Amino acid sequence: MNVTSIIESLNDAQRQAVTAPSQAMLVLAGAGSGKTRVLVHRIAWQIQVEGVEAHSILAVTFTNKAAKEMRVRIETLLKVPTHSLWIGTFHGIAHRLLRRHAKQAKLPETFQVMDSGDQLRVIKRLLNTLNLDDSKWPPRELQWFINAQKDEGIRARHMLESPDLHHRQMLTIYRAYEELCDRSGLVDFAELLLRGHELLRDNQDVLDFYQQRFRQVHVDEFQDTNTIQYAWLRLLTDGKDNLFVVGDDDQSIYGWRGAKIENIYSFQKHYPNHQVIKLEQNYRSTGTILKAANQIISNNSGRMGKELWTDAGEGDPCSLYAAFNEQDEAYFVVERIRSWVNEGGLRSDAAILYRSNAQSRQFEEKLMATATPYRVYGGLRFFDRAEIKNALAYLRLIANRNDDASFERVINTPTRGIGAKAIDDIRIIARDQSLSLWASAIVLINQRTMSARATNALIGFLELIKGLATQADGLELYEKVKLVVEKSGLTELYQKEKMEKGEEKVENLEELVNAARLFDFDQENEEGMGELDMFLTHAALESGDSQADDFEDCVQLMTIHSAKGLEFKLVFLVGMEENLFPSQQSVDDVSRLEEERRLCYVGMTRAMQQLYLSYAESRRLYGRESYPRPSRFLREIPSELIQEVRMRATVSRPVTAIQPKPAYLKTTGTYKLGQSVSHVKFGEGVVLQIEGSGAQERVQINFKQVGVKWLMLAFAKLDVL
Ligand code: ATP
Ligand code: MG
Repeated sequence: MNVTSIIESLNDAQRQAVTAPSQAMLVLAGAGSGKTRVLVHRIAWQIQVEGVEAHSILAVTFTNKAAKEMRVRIETLLKVPTHSLWIGTFHGIAHRLLRRHAKQAKLPETFQVMDSGDQLRVIKRLLNTLNLDDSKWPPRELQWFINAQKDEGIRARHMLESPDLHHRQMLTIYRAYEELCDRSGLVDFAELLLRGHELLRDNQDVLDFYQQRFRQVHVDEFQDTNTIQYAWLRLLTDGKDNLFVVGDDDQSIYGWRGAKIENIYSFQKHYPNHQVIKLEQNYRSTGTILKAANQIISNNSGRMGKELWTDAGEGDPCSLYAAFNEQDEAYFVVERIRSWVNEGGLRSDAAILYRSNAQSRQFEEKLMATATPYRVYGGLRFFDRAEIKNALAYLRLIANRNDDASFERVINTPTRGIGAKAIDDIRIIARDQSLSLWASAIVLINQRTMSARATNALIGFLELIKGLATQADGLELYEKVKLVVEKSGLTELYQKEKMEKGEEKVENLEELVNAARLFDFDQENEEGMGELDMFLTHAALESGDSQADDFEDCVQLMTIHSAKGLEFKLVFLVGMEENLFPSQQSVDDVSRLEEERRLCYVGMTRAMQQLYLSYAESRRLYGRESYPRPSRFLREIPSELIQEVRMRATVSRPVTAIQPKPAYLKTTGTYKLGQSVSHVKFGEGVVLQIEGSGAQERVQINFKQVGVKWLMLAFAKLDVL
């Protein structure tokens, strides 16, 4: 028995948690203290020492990436594969249960999972059929509303009719949305969880089975579970005290999506025999990084209070870079990464973390320009691209003719002469007769009300899908994908598109065939599920976790949210500006601001050796130019822990980087872009733009004290610093 290897690399508190007899347990500890490590070692311990079968263990983590990593770590410890061990995200596991028990969950066997883009499209279509104006009923708001209800376990039928007209209408839409999804066999992400919960709650035999099966249930990142996830965990472990959770209240960052920090308190109430273990030693970061992060989070109120220390050395100070604009910021970061790599560092040890996905583009461009391999997690990932979604829609329709979202997506892509009128007519029949769009199309053809041309076009489309389904029968998964890519007309469509864009799309379609070829059935194996269904579900659930070549050494780009639980030697926390981080929506709301601060804590504590923070003095984002102030979080770090990096002397600023009027821009003899200057009245600032010439020459300066101002050079008394 390989017991020593499981416990030798643990400290006392960790060992206590790992080896405790089966009981409810809460490991509450700060970042990098080994919570995930405890979970992994606990599972290995139970299998190896307690003789628990892998089959009787369930582990829930937050991302697919974390789940994969956890499995690998357990297998490394045990030196055997652990296929029968259930490790996954809440969504992934709920999906697995629903597939196994589709009938009891009142779902058709062929149900399809919609990602949030699909969901939004379904909502838009619904508004259309309900004759509601989507400027008055913004689809995104409705999506938010519907998901928020589901996250709380509330179905439309549970909601009371309200005298408020607006609320009544929302309820009507929610109800209609539920009906539409039921009719089409569509399941959104929130529905996976809710239905997964209802499946256990309403089917005693299913519940009994899983309660008996799982001797131990483990949850990582417990602070970010929402109401329905926690309710589901409670059902599974009811009366058995076998729930083992690890978490950190300071890292709760999904409150905006319904996560309930209070679940930590509820756990303590619901499992009165639980044990709490606190881990206080941080093994991840240098002393300086840890101190800086601890200082920031100490500004939050109502914390559960944990100490975190390290015996690693102080390390280097955190570095702060005040970029001239967002391009300069990207330039700086990429140059630093290049030096890191030149000095022998791995690219994959470097991460660029940002608050918002839209920030990634600048970094991507600079990385591409320097031929530095990188991977973006989240954002517009492979499976989100339009051409890929179109191909997947064909595949979905082949698998399930009632998949209305897919029907709608490809009925006229590529164009085949099916006009908006015909599509509208189909929708009306679907609404009036409660039919799927596919069935409604057949009704419409039989009504013989359309022109011969339109009828033929529609028949052509239905025949195409049926033909593809027949030909696909018996083929390998990748051959099916290839068939669709080639025969659906999509490849031809994109080949006709001009220039690189179209080419890239065709390449992406080829990549999809490749993805299908490489698809790992063993990892995803779901009982009774066809390969195609598995692949389609994978595409819907895949949150960009493994979009690029997994084995290439590449720089990691992601939002701070998706960096949760991960660690990197070199971390760049970029865009540290007011209204970006903390975000604009949070600055006036204390609880949201505190969540942003926790997010900052999460971001900083990803760093092992070196942490860079940066902000831009001018930023163009979402097509708007702004002159932000540095983030308040920067001020919360004691100055002795921070060292300001000055690149200005060495980097020549790209004049063309200034937008939006490059034609007017030029450097004057005296002042240069990015130069630090001082004004008698306004104090110190940095030159952002220079316009005009001679007596008309003026400069735009971002002053530290008073913000951005234009000054006429002829009058301004400026000193160059
Ligand atoms: P987070 O809150 O960010 O999720 P965590 O508490 O889950 O962090 P881990 O990721 O488990 O922390 O551990 C952080 C790092 O410290 C990892 O590299 C892990 O291998 C290492 N580590 C944890 N415990 C020990 C230990 N006892 N000895 C050596 N290294 C350890
Ligand atoms: Mg962890």
